[in-house]
Amino acid sequence: MAKKENKFQGYGISTQAIHTGTDYDQETGAVRRPLHMANSFKLPDDLSQVNYSSTDLLMYARNGNPNQHWLEEKIAALHGADDAIVLASGVGALHALFWTLLKSGDRVVYPKVSYMAVYRMFHELFNRKFGVETIMVDMTNLEEVKAAITPGTRLVHIETPDNPTVGVTDIAAIAKIAHENGALLSVDNTFASPLNQKPLSLGADFVVEALTKFINGHGDAQGGAIISNDLETMDRIRYEAQVNVGAVISPFNAWQIFRGSVTFPLRMRRINESTQKIAEWLEKRENVTFVSYPGLPSHPGHDLAKRQMQNGYGGVISFGVNADDHTVERFCAALKVVTFAVSLGHDESLIFPQPSYDERILLYPEKFRKGFIRFSVGLEEPEDIIGDLDQALKKVGL
Ligand SMILES: *Cc1c(COP(=O)(O)O)cnc(C)c1O
Repeated sequence: MAKKENKFQGYGISTQAIHTGTDYDQETGAVRRPLHMANSFKLPDDLSQVNYSSTDLLMYARNGNPNQHWLEEKIAALHGADDAIVLASGVGALHALFWTLLKSGDRVVYPKVSYMAVYRMFHELFNRKFGVETIMVDMTNLEEVKAAITPGTRLVHIETPDNPTVGVTDIAAIAKIAHENGALLSVDNTFASPLNQKPLSLGADFVVEALTKFINGHGDAQGGAIISNDLETMDRIRYEAQVNVGAVISPFNAWQIFRGSVTFPLRMRRINESTQKIAEWLEKRENVTFVSYPGLPSHPGHDLAKRQMQNGYGGVISFGVNADDHTVERFCAALKVVTFAVSLGHDESLIFPQPSYDERILLYPEKFRKGFIRFSVGLEEPEDIIGDLDQALKKVGL
């Protein structure tokens, strides 16, 4: 596919979130483009030139659908990138990228702390099923990263801030190490979002966003995106992973996310502000054992985050309380404003404890192994969120 057109290049991110990918409806003049639920499109009269694995021709919804394409224009614009591919979920996007780039015998270097499905793909699936050599490292230790990259390393994948410990990784430094050794760098940017961090400008080759989270922002649709300036590889991803594996987004979800994304910069600015306030409050609260948020000077990645993140530090905090798993669950259940549920980046605040028996917890730094909670700050009044956390902590004796 050609580079995505962006008539609003050079404008601010809110202007682009509102105006890119949108237009008058050709047929009715409506100021919103329609939702096209069709899964098939009229073919040209002459079929001799039709390529059934193409994503250029609107032919069948898995090859691409108009709502997906319009959302792709917007997501590319939010990252100032030439191209974006929107798929059915964040994990669908991660898989499409890994599936296209990696083959047997390749090495991939991935972080100790990462999204659960990335851990599963590299710890259990790509290695055992396809003979990809998967090496897990501490991405905050650049010497360890250097030592793990061999001439056969195809890809380094990072996540920053990471899910769930909210640790920060140096994108520019890892891009340099990867490129010096002939490897590519992909960055899961979900926690930061494109308002706060644009990894392509720091040297990354691919960015993945779980659109399910802050970009949609309303907890009512699932989607994921791969963003890049490498048009050739992006077309390979479309061919190998979208058309021939099939995790394309439904037009309805693309339409929902398109709508949610219009207010994304506005929501994210508010979330940045509230999260900073709440993190500062939590840090002072007794019985809170630690608070991990890159906006706090106590965070080991604070100076780095100041350099590589703009506008703020995102909407997720992780923190610990001095309590056993059962008490942590009772605390979460006692919240009234904050919802006890997985996911993040919704309008409502969401809280999710990671119990001490979770196998991945042993990969996290020591302090994260007891009373560990991931907290996604929503759009409620920050004072109400703080009041709610306080009353629920008191209720369980903390
Ligand atoms: C949620 C999430 C994903 C996966 O997105 P889904 O839409 O749930 O598949 C990937 N990476 C990170 C960091 C996430 O938080």
